[in-house]
Amino acid sequence: MSTRIRILPENLTNKIAAGEVVERPASVVKELVENSLDAGCTEIIVEIESGGKRLIKVADNGCGMSRDDALLSLERHATSKIIADNDLFNLSTLGFRGEALPSIASVSRFTLETRESGSLEGSHIYAEGGRIKEVKVCGMAGGTVISVRNLFFNTPARLKFMKSSDTESGHIGDIMTRLAICRPDVRFVYSNDGKLVLRMVDTDLKERISSLFGHSFAADFYPVEFEDEHAGITGFVAKPDSNRSSTSHFYTYINGRFIRDRVVQHAILQAYRNLLARGRYPMVVLFINVPAGDVDVNVHPTKHEVRFREQGKVHDAIVSAIVAVLRDAPWMRHGPVAKTGIYQESKLPVSDRRVEEVLELPEDFRNSAVPGVGIVPLENRQDHTPLPKNEPDAAIGESTRGYFSSLMYIGQYQGQYILCQDASDLVIIDQHAAHERIVFEKLIREFASDSIESQQLLLPQTLELSFKEASALRENKSGIRQFGYGVEEFSGNTWVLNAVPGLLAQGDYVRVLRDIIEDMQNLGRSGGFDQALEKICARIACHSVIRGVWQLALQEVTSLFAQLDKTEFSGNCPHGRPVLRKLTISEIEKMFKRG
Ligand code: ADP
Ligand code: MG
Repeated sequence: MSTRIRILPENLTNKIAAGEVVERPASVVKELVENSLDAGCTEIIVEIESGGKRLIKVADNGCGMSRDDALLSLERHATSKIIADNDLFNLSTLGFRGEALPSIASVSRFTLETRESGSLEGSHIYAEGGRIKEVKVCGMAGGTVISVRNLFFNTPARLKFMKSSDTESGHIGDIMTRLAICRPDVRFVYSNDGKLVLRMVDTDLKERISSLFGHSFAADFYPVEFEDEHAGITGFVAKPDSNRSSTSHFYTYINGRFIRDRVVQHAILQAYRNLLARGRYPMVVLFINVPAGDVDVNVHPTKHEVRFREQGKVHDAIVSAIVAVLRDAPWMRHGPVAKTGIYQESKLPVSDRRVEEVLELPEDFRNSAVPGVGIVPLENRQDHTPLPKNEPDAAIGESTRGYFSSLMYIGQYQGQYILCQDASDLVIIDQHAAHERIVFEKLIREFASDSIESQQLLLPQTLELSFKEASALRENKSGIRQFGYGVEEFSGNTWVLNAVPGLLAQGDYVRVLRDIIEDMQNLGRSGGFDQALEKICARIACHSVIRGVWQLALQEVTSLFAQLDKTEFSGNCPHGRPVLRKLTISEIEKMFKRG
């Protein structure tokens, strides 16, 4: 009887491994550039076409390979970087799994050209879907050139998942940024569809950061220098003002390897805890060095996660390293933080939580009944004095009037809340929340009819973006313009901002734009444009509303209520932060022990 279980052919196991290692063109760039760095090169030239979908070509002037090694390099688990078990815990190279080349080759048309420094001629190998089709000698400079064409041509399911060329090249630009930061001593040249995007000379970290993020950013970065028995930490941290709405600007490296680690991120946030509003994230470039044996990088094929032996100690070292810089930084010495170490809540910018809250709905709005008998509608009232319960009622017969307009106005509390009576209930309305909700709904409507007001800036402003931000903006330019932002591509990743939403003309429009771009980047992952549209409108609404104490004249209350009545409260969320709260008479009586 024949067996049902069989060992898979290597071609198939490579494709399976490719599923883990090669997620998209950017992962190919990462693996190839890391190999070049491991080969001890001083220059790397990366060229891509169509977001890397048509071509990814990486050339280096590193050690190269002999013909035999070149053939071996395409075999699974073939590596020159480790030999024995122990080496796994003592890595000095970025690669070690011997998986990247065979995986990439199995899902593309793959050309490897390489020449060892001592050798007279180079070798040229061509493989298609992992099958070697041609091996010949070739003339070339010392080093290695790998060209990956038609990625995923033989895995249609994967092919379908690739995004637009702009999106994919944004991811590649991001990877290039991470790699370029980790090795300022190596020259990088990167071009996209024949256009030069980056040309970076060998330099120090500070210069590298300026050439990547722009000089204005670099000026906001402060050097970190720290060492204790558990970790050495160097790099730069930005002042709290240059914050972002996500961790996209956490450039963190463990022993030279870019990682996204929970422990590390937590430590960074803890260090900035009192300096940033909730939902805001700093910009940092941190190189954390721990003894090779104290960290396990073999946790995931992409090696983005690590495991520390002394997790808590490394965490605390990072916190101390950053706090030491923040404590002495000039903005701390002169800023409002100096005395207490904490910003006053009111000084903080609008938090992202606030934005989320606007999206949520006051729970008991929809069920609110038409006003009961005995209540005088607001517009018929002459003063602020509450009326006795059984005063003649002008609202009778006008059941179509909106709920808010029919409330009986009592007065204002703390310049922030409006108190009203609804039948026997006491109604408390948060006027900022109400206002935000009105602006939000208005923006949604105006966006649909392309009528959001835009205001020209007297002096156009420049904006430095990361690759991913630039490509997200490029791809969503018309949408962003529809929100009232006039944006034009200037050069490289620099854009010009010449108009802003009228609602934000006095506000923090640059920050809102950056946040919107970040939302756009997340479009693919989270539920499409509608979701982003609401979030963006909520962002603008939150930032357009003047916070703080705000005394309202009776007409203002009337008009606020009229607008609230016209505002649709859709998208009910039971946990929403309410615009309005009610206290029933029995609740109030209970408070006074009468119930
Ligand atoms: P790993 O990097 O984990 O060893 P790879 O599949 O990425 O595995 O590469 C296999 C081997 O091919 C490497 O160990 C290295 O010896 C060789 N190699 C790959 N790329 C280059 C390069 N650019 N220059 C020199 N050697 C290379
Ligand atoms: Mg490798």
